[in-house]
Amino acid sequence: MPELPEVNVVAKQLRAILLNDNQRINQINLYYQKSLRNAEKIELENLKNLKPIDVFQIAKNLVIETESKYLILHLRMEGNFKFLNKEELTKIDLIHTIVSFKLNNNNWLLFNDHRKFATIDLFDNNKQIKDNTFFKNLGPEPWDIDFENFYQKIKNSKSTIKSLLLSQKYISGLGNIYVDEVLFAAKIHPQEMTKNIAKKDFKKIIDSAILILKASIRDGGSTIKTFKSFGEKGNFQNKLMVHGKKGLPCKICRTTIEKIVVAGRGTYFCPQEQVLKYKNLNV
Ligand SMILES: [Zn+2]
Repeated sequence: MPELPEVNVVAKQLRAILLNDNQRINQINLYYQKSLRNAEKIELENLKNLKPIDVFQIAKNLVIETESKYLILHLRMEGNFKFLNKEELTKIDLIHTIVSFKLNNNNWLLFNDHRKFATIDLFDNNKQIKDNTFFKNLGPEPWDIDFENFYQKIKNSKSTIKSLLLSQKYISGLGNIYVDEVLFAAKIHPQEMTKNIAKKDFKKIIDSAILILKASIRDGGSTIKTFKSFGEKGNFQNKLMVHGKKGLPCKICRTTIEKIVVAGRGTYFCPQEQVLKYKNLNV
């Protein structure tokens, strides 16, 4: 499932296509109605001649900002984009397409998802996005965190650190893969109760999140199972330390990596370096 680094990589690729040579989105066709969540099909398809002015990522959401509208696309599990240059699209081109964007010079951008979980939202302005319940409840990305403020909000939390980080409420952009990697780097057990974690260790968590997400963005994200953007795989999966490494020796201390379930998610950790502080309270 694409997380922040993968979405950031896709945003970069979309920028190269959409912010080019007076590019316009001349026509939009919606093929899978359910994916459009907050508007009617006709409203989306009536948008013509849109000039894209920016493409960016908010947590795991892709935002295409045009002169008049904001389109927010979410890849969910396996959403992806395809770029085609041809006069007319055929049925085969559109087999997994949720929405197509006709660009200048017979160029097409297809937003595809064979599982049909990917979503689209349409907003008139930035304020509408900020007021939307989903975005309102989204914490800042790691590099935007005001540490003192963050610490005050979470220091008494009774949830495990893994579920707190996955919730996106206090810090956004970390999903299952990167939470495991960040907690390994900070040497915190994923089942540790948040309130038992020292302030300096939270600092390590935030610093590690920034380092790991940025490194992954540089490497084109992680391709686990299926992530590909415009047909390109990421490389960061080769640098993962614990996620997906059950039964393999830890790259630092050679202890066998274990897999447990935390917050309903398969969770990987090094039992030698990530030790629960108060074992009896958590087992
Ligand atoms: Zn280890």
